[in-house]
Amino acid sequence: MKTIGILGGMSAASTQVYYRELCDMTRKRLGGLHSPELLIRSLDFARIEHLQMKGEWDAAGAILNDEAKALQRGGANLIVLATNTMHKLADQMMTGVGIPMVHIADATAEAITSQRLKSPGLMATAFTMEQSFYTDRLVAAGLTPIIPNDADRAETHRIIYEELCMDVTTDESEAAYVEIAGRLVGAGADCLILGCTEVGMLLNHGNVQVPVFDTTLIHCSTALNKALE
Ligand code: GLU
Repeated sequence: MKTIGILGGMSAASTQVYYRELCDMTRKRLGGLHSPELLIRSLDFARIEHLQMKGEWDAAGAILNDEAKALQRGGANLIVLATNTMHKLADQMMTGVGIPMVHIADATAEAITSQRLKSPGLMATAFTMEQSFYTDRLVAAGLTPIIPNDADRAETHRIIYEELCMDVTTDESEAAYVEIAGRLVGAGADCLILGCTEVGMLLNHGNVQVPVFDTTLIHCSTALNKALE
Protein backbone atom coordinates (compact mmCIF):
# COMPACT_ATOMS: atom_id res chain seq x y z
CA MET A 1 0.00 0.00 0.00
CA LYS A 2 1.27 3.45 -0.93
CA THR A 3 1.45 6.23 1.67
CA ILE A 4 -1.12 9.00 1.25
CA GLY A 5 0.10 12.43 2.33
CA ILE A 6 -2.81 14.58 3.51
CA LEU A 7 -2.25 18.32 3.50
CA GLY A 8 -5.02 19.38 5.84
CA GLY A 9 -6.15 21.57 8.66
CA MET A 10 -8.20 23.58 6.17
CA SER A 11 -10.13 23.16 8.20
CA ALA A 12 -9.28 20.79 11.04
CA ALA A 13 -13.00 19.86 11.21
CA SER A 14 -12.87 18.23 7.79
CA THR A 15 -9.37 16.76 8.12
CA GLN A 16 -10.80 14.65 10.94
CA VAL A 17 -13.39 13.34 8.47
CA TYR A 18 -10.62 12.44 6.00
CA TYR A 19 -8.82 10.43 8.67
CA ARG A 20 -11.93 8.60 9.83
CA GLU A 21 -13.19 7.89 6.31
CA LEU A 22 -9.83 6.65 5.04
CA CYS A 23 -9.61 4.30 8.03
CA ASP A 24 -13.19 3.04 7.52
CA MET A 25 -12.77 2.59 3.77
CA THR A 26 -9.49 0.72 4.19
CA ARG A 27 -10.96 -1.61 6.80
CA LYS A 28 -13.97 -2.30 4.55
CA ARG A 29 -11.81 -3.01 1.51
CA LEU A 30 -8.99 -4.99 3.10
CA GLY A 31 -10.64 -6.34 6.24
CA GLY A 32 -9.06 -7.43 9.49
CA LEU A 33 -6.70 -5.01 11.14
CA HIS A 34 -5.83 -3.12 7.97
CA SER A 35 -5.56 0.67 8.15
CA PRO A 36 -4.21 3.21 5.67
CA GLU A 37 -0.58 4.32 5.48
CA LEU A 38 -0.92 8.07 6.07
CA LEU A 39 1.10 11.17 6.71
CA ILE A 40 -1.12 14.01 7.92
CA ARG A 41 0.13 17.58 7.97
CA SER A 42 -2.47 19.77 9.65
CA LEU A 43 -1.92 23.51 9.29
CA ASP A 44 -3.22 26.32 11.51
CA PHE A 45 -6.25 27.42 9.48
CA ALA A 46 -6.28 30.91 11.05
CA ARG A 47 -3.00 31.60 9.25
CA ILE A 48 -4.36 30.37 5.91
CA GLU A 49 -7.72 32.14 6.23
CA HIS A 50 -5.90 35.41 6.98
CA LEU A 51 -4.01 35.12 3.69
CA GLN A 52 -7.22 34.24 1.81
CA MET A 53 -9.02 37.30 3.18
CA LYS A 54 -6.12 39.59 2.29
CA GLY A 55 -5.92 38.06 -1.18
CA GLU A 56 -2.31 37.01 -0.53
CA TRP A 57 -2.64 33.85 -2.58
CA ASP A 58 1.01 33.72 -3.59
CA ALA A 59 2.08 33.55 0.04
CA ALA A 60 -0.49 30.82 0.70
CA GLY A 61 0.73 28.93 -2.37
CA ALA A 62 4.31 29.14 -1.11
CA ILE A 63 3.23 27.57 2.19
CA LEU A 64 1.42 24.74 0.36
CA ASN A 65 4.44 24.18 -1.85
CA ASP A 66 6.78 23.88 1.16
CA GLU A 67 4.36 21.49 2.85
CA ALA A 68 3.91 19.31 -0.24
CA LYS A 69 7.68 18.98 -0.49
CA ALA A 70 7.85 18.08 3.20
CA LEU A 71 5.22 15.37 2.69
CA GLN A 72 7.29 13.96 -0.17
CA ARG A 73 10.45 14.01 1.96
CA GLY A 74 8.52 12.33 4.75
CA GLY A 75 7.69 9.39 2.50
CA ALA A 76 4.30 10.20 0.96
CA ASN A 77 3.70 8.62 -2.45
CA LEU A 78 0.74 10.79 -3.35
CA ILE A 79 -0.78 14.02 -2.06
CA VAL A 80 -4.32 14.84 -1.05
CA LEU A 81 -4.97 18.56 -0.51
CA ALA A 82 -7.91 18.32 1.88
CA THR A 83 -9.78 21.46 0.81
CA ASN A 84 -11.53 22.44 -2.41
CA THR A 85 -10.75 26.14 -2.12
CA MET A 86 -6.99 25.77 -1.89
CA HIS A 87 -6.98 23.80 -5.16
CA LYS A 88 -6.91 27.30 -6.60
CA LEU A 89 -3.18 27.01 -5.82
CA ALA A 90 -2.69 23.42 -7.00
CA ASP A 91 -0.15 24.30 -9.70
CA GLN A 92 1.96 26.42 -7.36
CA MET A 93 1.72 23.76 -4.64
CA MET A 94 3.00 21.04 -6.97
CA THR A 95 5.90 23.00 -8.45
CA GLY A 96 9.05 20.92 -7.96
CA VAL A 97 7.12 18.11 -6.25
CA GLY A 98 7.84 14.67 -7.71
CA ILE A 99 4.80 12.74 -6.47
CA PRO A 100 1.28 13.05 -7.92
CA MET A 101 -1.68 14.82 -6.33
CA VAL A 102 -5.28 13.62 -6.45
CA HIS A 103 -7.26 16.61 -7.74
CA ILE A 104 -10.55 16.91 -5.85
CA ALA A 105 -12.49 18.55 -8.71
CA ASP A 106 -11.38 15.97 -11.27
CA ALA A 107 -12.24 13.08 -8.95
CA THR A 108 -15.67 14.63 -8.33
CA ALA A 109 -16.31 15.29 -12.02
CA GLU A 110 -15.48 11.66 -12.80
CA ALA A 111 -17.87 10.41 -10.13
CA ILE A 112 -20.67 12.55 -11.62
CA THR A 113 -20.07 11.70 -15.28
CA SER A 114 -19.87 7.99 -14.44
CA GLN A 115 -23.51 8.31 -13.31
CA ARG A 116 -24.43 10.17 -16.51
CA LEU A 117 -25.48 13.28 -14.62
CA LYS A 118 -24.85 16.64 -16.23
CA SER A 119 -25.75 19.72 -14.21
CA PRO A 120 -24.40 19.69 -10.68
CA GLY A 121 -25.42 22.39 -8.24
CA LEU A 122 -22.28 23.61 -6.44
CA MET A 123 -22.26 24.59 -2.77
CA ALA A 124 -18.84 25.76 -1.66
CA THR A 125 -16.90 28.79 -0.49
CA ALA A 126 -17.33 32.00 -2.48
CA PHE A 127 -13.83 31.46 -3.89
CA THR A 128 -14.77 28.06 -5.27
CA MET A 129 -18.20 29.10 -6.56
CA GLU A 130 -17.24 32.47 -8.05
CA GLN A 131 -13.74 32.03 -9.45
CA SER A 132 -13.08 29.78 -12.42
CA PHE A 133 -10.31 27.49 -11.09
CA TYR A 134 -12.85 24.87 -10.00
CA THR A 135 -15.84 25.26 -12.33
CA ASP A 136 -13.51 25.26 -15.37
CA ARG A 137 -12.47 21.71 -14.51
CA LEU A 138 -16.09 20.64 -14.20
CA VAL A 139 -16.87 22.23 -17.57
CA ALA A 140 -13.80 20.53 -19.10
CA ALA A 141 -15.27 17.22 -17.96
CA GLY A 142 -18.48 17.99 -19.88
CA LEU A 143 -20.55 19.24 -16.94
CA THR A 144 -22.67 22.39 -16.63
CA PRO A 145 -22.32 23.55 -13.03
CA ILE A 146 -25.07 25.68 -11.48
CA ILE A 147 -24.09 28.06 -8.70
CA PRO A 148 -26.40 29.62 -6.11
CA ASN A 149 -27.72 33.20 -6.42
CA ASP A 150 -25.87 36.09 -4.70
CA ALA A 151 -27.62 35.83 -1.34
CA ASP A 152 -27.36 32.04 -1.22
CA ARG A 153 -23.65 32.15 -2.09
CA ALA A 154 -23.03 34.65 0.71
CA GLU A 155 -24.94 32.51 3.23
CA THR A 156 -23.26 29.29 2.12
CA HIS A 157 -19.84 30.94 2.52
CA ARG A 158 -20.70 32.51 5.88
CA ILE A 159 -21.84 29.22 7.40
CA ILE A 160 -18.64 27.50 6.25
CA TYR A 161 -16.31 30.02 7.87
CA GLU A 162 -18.35 31.07 10.91
CA GLU A 163 -19.61 27.62 11.88
CA LEU A 164 -18.51 24.49 10.03
CA CYS A 165 -14.77 25.24 10.06
CA MET A 166 -15.10 25.67 13.84
CA ASP A 167 -16.89 22.33 14.12
CA VAL A 168 -20.25 23.99 14.84
CA THR A 169 -23.43 22.56 13.29
CA THR A 170 -26.90 23.98 13.94
CA ASP A 171 -30.43 23.04 12.89
CA GLU A 172 -30.90 26.57 11.49
CA SER A 173 -27.91 26.27 9.20
CA GLU A 174 -28.93 22.80 8.10
CA ALA A 175 -32.37 24.17 7.19
CA ALA A 176 -30.75 27.06 5.31
CA TYR A 177 -28.52 24.66 3.37
CA VAL A 178 -31.47 22.38 2.54
CA GLU A 179 -33.32 25.41 1.14
CA ILE A 180 -30.35 26.56 -0.91
CA ALA A 181 -29.93 23.03 -2.29
CA GLY A 182 -33.65 23.01 -3.13
CA ARG A 183 -33.32 26.28 -5.06
CA LEU A 184 -30.43 24.79 -7.05
CA VAL A 185 -32.62 21.83 -7.95
CA GLY A 186 -35.35 24.31 -8.94
CA ALA A 187 -32.81 26.03 -11.19
CA GLY A 188 -32.15 22.74 -13.00
CA ALA A 189 -29.46 20.94 -10.98
CA ASP A 190 -29.72 17.16 -11.46
CA CYS A 191 -27.27 16.50 -8.61
CA LEU A 192 -25.40 18.45 -5.93
CA ILE A 193 -21.68 18.84 -5.30
CA LEU A 194 -20.80 19.38 -1.66
CA GLY A 195 -17.89 21.45 -2.94
CA CYS A 196 -16.36 22.31 0.37
CA THR A 197 -14.93 19.61 2.57
CA GLU A 198 -17.12 20.70 5.50
CA VAL A 199 -20.50 20.84 3.76
CA GLY A 200 -21.11 17.14 4.41
CA MET A 201 -21.47 18.08 8.07
CA LEU A 202 -24.94 19.44 7.13
CA LEU A 203 -26.02 17.91 3.82
CA ASN A 204 -26.20 14.30 2.67
CA HIS A 205 -28.32 11.82 0.73
CA GLY A 206 -30.94 11.99 3.47
CA ASN A 207 -31.84 15.68 3.16
CA VAL A 208 -31.21 16.53 -0.50
CA GLN A 209 -33.67 15.58 -3.26
CA VAL A 210 -31.03 14.81 -5.93
CA PRO A 211 -27.90 12.60 -5.86
CA VAL A 212 -25.22 14.11 -3.61
CA PHE A 213 -21.51 14.13 -4.41
CA ASP A 214 -19.57 14.79 -1.23
CA THR A 215 -16.10 15.91 -2.32
CA THR A 216 -14.52 14.73 0.94
CA LEU A 217 -15.77 11.16 0.51
CA ILE A 218 -14.97 11.05 -3.20
CA HIS A 219 -11.48 12.43 -2.56
CA CYS A 220 -10.81 9.77 0.09
CA SER A 221 -12.10 6.95 -2.09
CA THR A 222 -10.11 8.05 -5.15
CA ALA A 223 -6.94 8.46 -3.08
CA LEU A 224 -7.37 5.02 -1.57
CA ASN A 225 -7.86 3.48 -5.03
CA LYS A 226 -4.54 5.01 -6.07
CA ALA A 227 -2.81 3.93 -2.87
CA LEU A 228 -3.91 0.35 -3.46
CA GLU A 229 -2.99 0.24 -7.16
N1 GLU B 1 -12.53 23.21 3.45
C1 GLU B 1 -13.06 24.21 2.61
C2 GLU B 1 -13.07 23.80 1.16
O1 GLU B 1 -13.14 22.63 0.88
C3 GLU B 1 -12.94 25.63 2.96
C4 GLU B 1 -11.80 26.05 3.83
C5 GLU B 1 -10.69 26.58 2.97
O2 GLU B 1 -10.80 27.71 2.55
O3 GLU B 1 -9.74 25.86 2.69
O4 GLU B 1 -13.06 24.62 0.30
